[in-house]
Amino acid sequence: MPYKQEKEHRKQIQKELARKEKESFFSNLPMEQELLIELFDYLDTELASSGCKHDYNLTSNFLNSKGKHLEDRVIKWFQEQRGYCDCEILLNVEEKFE
Ligand SMILES: [Zn+2]
Repeated sequence: MPYKQEKEHRKQIQKELARKEKESFFSNLPMEQELLIELFDYLDTELASSGCKHDYNLTSNFLNSKGKHLEDRVIKWFQEQRGYCDCEILLNVEEKFE
């Protein structure tokens, strides 16, 4: 394959990979997308006023207020996205929604 075509081909593959990654990210959400976005808003407000204690206290409070619990599988998912506490969820997970 000529160099230029080869380069074009690789670009296509990378694009396809990025698309698949995004697709699998959104199909594996641990809760409804709207609820997650609400959580980000909540964390944004709460972290600004009380700061992060480097645990999942705020996330847990938020879910309780929605009649849900912070389940192990949800924590696991956050950790896979490098969200190891409330502020890291906001920092590392929210950006994937933009
Ligand atoms: Zn934190």
